[in-house]
Amino acid sequence: MAEKTKRFRSQLYEYDYKTGTIKLRNRLCPRCGSVMAFHKAGKPRWHCGKCNYTIFVEERKK
Ligand SMILES: [Zn+2]
Repeated sequence: MAEKTKRFRSQLYEYDYKTGTIKLRNRLCPRCGSVMAFHKAGKPRWHCGKCNYTIFVEERKK
């Protein structure tokens, strides 16, 4: 039995240098089920490119 200890984090995150967004593959759109992208610019938010569903991330008080 071979143990699999390697975990590829790079496969969970995709950084789009063109738009400056990060795609997390495990974050799915609650409306259409496609992968959402995280936008850092301005207000942090999740955005679905398919149906334009947007979730604004509430900033925690420090
Ligand atoms: Zn969607």
